[in-house]
This record gives sequence, structure tokens and C-alpha cells, in this order.
Amino acid sequence: MTTTKYIFVTGGVTSSLGKGIISASLAKLLQARGYSVTIQKFDPYINVDPGTLNPYEHGECYVTEDGAETDLDLGHYERFINLPTTQANNVTTGRIYQTVINKERRGDYLGKTVQVIPHITDEIKRNIKLLGEKHNYDIVITEIGGTVGDIESLPYIEAVRQLKWELGSQNSLVVHLTLVPYLAASGELKTKPTQHSVKVMLENGVQPDVLVLRTEHPLNIDIRKKVALFCNVNIESVIESIDVSTIYEVPLLMKEEKLDITVLKKLNLTENEEPKLEKWRQFINKLKNPKKEITVGLIGKYIELPDSYKSIMESLIHAGSVNQCKVNVECIHSEKITDANVAEKLKGVQGIIVAPGFGQRGIEGKIIATKYVRENNVPFLGICLGMQCAVIEFARNVLGLKDADSTEMSKTTTNPVVDLMEEQKGVTEKGGTMRLGAYPCDIKKGSKVFEVYNQEQIQERHRHRYEFNNAYLDKFEKAGMKPVGFNPDTDLVEIMEMPEHRWFIGVQFHPEYKSTVVNPHPLFVNFVKEICKE
Ligand code: GLN
Repeated sequence: MTTTKYIFVTGGVTSSLGKGIISASLAKLLQARGYSVTIQKFDPYINVDPGTLNPYEHGECYVTEDGAETDLDLGHYERFINLPTTQANNVTTGRIYQTVINKERRGDYLGKTVQVIPHITDEIKRNIKLLGEKHNYDIVITEIGGTVGDIESLPYIEAVRQLKWELGSQNSLVVHLTLVPYLAASGELKTKPTQHSVKVMLENGVQPDVLVLRTEHPLNIDIRKKVALFCNVNIESVIESIDVSTIYEVPLLMKEEKLDITVLKKLNLTENEEPKLEKWRQFINKLKNPKKEITVGLIGKYIELPDSYKSIMESLIHAGSVNQCKVNVECIHSEKITDANVAEKLKGVQGIIVAPGFGQRGIEGKIIATKYVRENNVPFLGICLGMQCAVIEFARNVLGLKDADSTEMSKTTTNPVVDLMEEQKGVTEKGGTMRLGAYPCDIKKGSKVFEVYNQEQIQERHRHRYEFNNAYLDKFEKAGMKPVGFNPDTDLVEIMEMPEHRWFIGVQFHPEYKSTVVNPHPLFVNFVKEICKE
């Protein structure tokens, strides 16, 4: 039996330093040396999952194959290590407390006072070890969300302290990510915030084993020595993480800094062969040497926060690399699009993606943009609500059903072309109750999407409550918008396309969740390819 080794990734000084990318990069390097690795994220907020959070709060909600609504970092994990994650890879304080409270109500702790220590910390530890024990991974990387020093992170740091002690120094280690700011006025890099954040870790009883320092400028040997001395680590354990133009370069940078070797040594694991990163390098090479440049319009209402559409953005990067094309994305606010200005708004783009979303706000702008690209033969990819917008637009403007709508937006429409799914009708709870996760879809031979996927059946991930209303199937089909993908068990329409149009595809699912560096998603690849033909 293998002994699973545990790596914890914590963050200090400030949030948004990129713990997810560092975790994913380290995982990538270890995987490329032949180790089986998984990554999990522990989030200190009280929501049971991020599914009930507005994207403005926490960025995109990422959906796994098994239908878990998770933190967007899981998207990075999948894109980097090309392995699916599950519900078990994302645990929140809400989920931990829910389990402990349910146990308390059941009487599992009868007679005892239920407390943060040991009950909450024990439940955190149990969850940290769950995946390793079940699947015998060589290495489990656990990213602890938030910043050390936050009140809500404390039980996690305590759980890490206990686990380090229980597992021993050869089976566990802590990688702590901090920031080394550059003060332009004095022209200096400052290590004090790093020293302070390591002190906070020490106050909580945890000595970080490896320090990864985010910086805008290279760290010279003196700075590295200073950090090593004041933070009780050896010099090889001070790793520079300098800003790069693409996150996909971070694994290569970490390799140069020997992060993988330092970690393997500390965990008493052999270095094995050099990491196999050929495909990864090819990907970056093509990404950095584009032969063409295109601009795609992303029509959405959460565009103020780019993380809201993280997976779509990354999928376009993957597709750009395949086509050796630089894909610029122009985010266009759907609330700002009107009949009068749509031509102007879409002037600079050669194709559009109408984004997923919920609720009435911004919907009319999406419909207007869809009409414009349908009539002007501009490539269109509609994702989830984006497909529903295409359906509503077609019903109103081609079928002449003037009040056509989704019952999500209008309860009184006489033409509910998009309607609540049967299984959703009695649902009142909001958390985790949508149609979630992977479902099969049969693709009609001879269709455009068949050409794109070159497969008769696909599996794609979902996150929605509403669907195309099959009562309108014939009308759409006859008028030129063809349903070409169906769920084989329920007959739900999953894909619509317009054969007369240059490239017009709407999908009820979210292809963006499945695009990875090694497996770029065919829909995005083909969409970019089509635009590149111009
Ligand atoms: N609001 C729509 C629904 O629930 C679309 C959801 C989405 O775009 N993810 O069906």
C-alpha cells in the first residue's frame, strides 16, 4: 500500500496571489514525473457550496462531472492536470459544519459539548484525507482558501498543524505563498510582509516548509538569503514566482526554480525521470507565436469581473493555441446593447459568444446581439442561457411569436419556448437543485456539430433549470433552426444549430468546463478556426 503524502498550500499577505495556479503547477510537475496526484480546495466561507453565490462575489461557479458546484480553482486544477475533479475536491466551512451539526442531531456526540476543536478540526482532517485514502494517490495537494490571519481560516490552519504532527515531516509539508512588493520610490523589493505572514503561521503553530514569493521583479540571492534566515527555511525552499504573461507558463517557471525537486526531497520521494512536458511546451509555443489575430465578443452581464467567465476565457486561450491564433476577447455588457447601437457595439468583433446567466437583467441585450449576428452571418456560440436567447430571438423574429420568452423571464408569456424542466417544477430550495453535472447527448449525423465533435454521443456538463420547450420542435426545425443534439433518456434538446448560417450553434450545456490544455474543447477550437478563415 502506498502512503499518501500531503502538501498544503496556504497564502499570506493578500488574497489573489494565485494559490490555485501554484497548486495546479506543482501538481502538473509531480504528475509529469509519474506520480498520481490530486488537488483539493478548502474554502473558509459558510455557504455549503459556491452555487448560491453571485459571480461578482467569487467569480465563476465551476461544475464537475458529478454535478458539484465548486470554486473556480477546480477549473484550473482540471485544465492543468487533465483529470476530472469531484465534489470531494471542494469542501467549505458550511459543508463541514453541516456534517458536524447533522451528527450532533443524530446523537453521535451524545453527552459531549460540540466544539471547534476537536469536532470541526477533526471533520476538516477527515475530509482532507478522504480522497487520498479512497484512491491511494501518491500525493494530495490541499489548497487552503483565504489568507492566514483571517478569523475564518483558523480551524483550517489548526487542522494542518495537527496533520503535520500526525503524519510526520516526510509525509506532509506546507507551501506558503506570499508577496514581495516592489517600492518604486526607493527601488526596493520588500520582504517584511513575508516575514510577518510567516510569523502569523508560527503563532498558529505551523512552520512553512517552502515559501513561494510572488514578485514583479527577480529576487536576488541576498533577498532569498534574508527570507530564508528570517523565516527558518533553507535557501532552496525560497522559490521565486515572477509575474508572467500567461498562467500556463507557471509550471515551467516552477520547474526552473526546482519547486518539484525541493518538494520531492522533503517528502523523501525519488525524483524519477525529468518531467514530461513536451505537449505543454508545444501548447505555449503556439500560444506565444500566433500567426493570426482575431477578436471575439463575449456578451454577458457580469463582465466587470473577468473571473465570472473564467472557463470560457481559458477555453478560448486553448482554442487559440490550437489554431495558432491570438484570440482577443472584447467583453460587451449585455445591459448596454440596444437596437440602435448593436451594430456599433459589435463593430470590432468577428464572432460572438453569448454567455450563461440567470434572471431578467441583461437578457434583452443578449437577444438583440443574437439577432444581429444571425442576420449578418457572424459566427455565434450560445452557451446555456446563450442558447435559450437564440431560441427566444428566433421565435420572436422568425416564427413571429412576438411575446415568446423563457418562463424564467416572463411567467405570463403565451409562447413559453423555454420552460421549466418537468423535474424542476416542485423544487423550491436553491442550493444544489439545478440540473447539474455530466449528461449524455446524442448528435445527429450530418449536422455541423457532428462535424465538430466527430462523435455520435458526447458527455457534457450542465447547470440550468430551464430547457427548450419540445412543443415548438417542428416549428423551429421547419424554419431553419435545427435541434441536433438530444439527451437519449429524456429527449431534452441540448444543441440547436442553423445550417444556413455560417456558424451558429447554441448549446444547453457548458463546454467550457471540459476544455483543458491537453484536450482543448472541439466547439471552441472549431469556432475560432471558422473565424480564422476570414
Ligand atoms: N438561467 C438559465 C436556466 O436556469 C440558464 C442557466 C445558465 O446559463 N447556466 O436554465
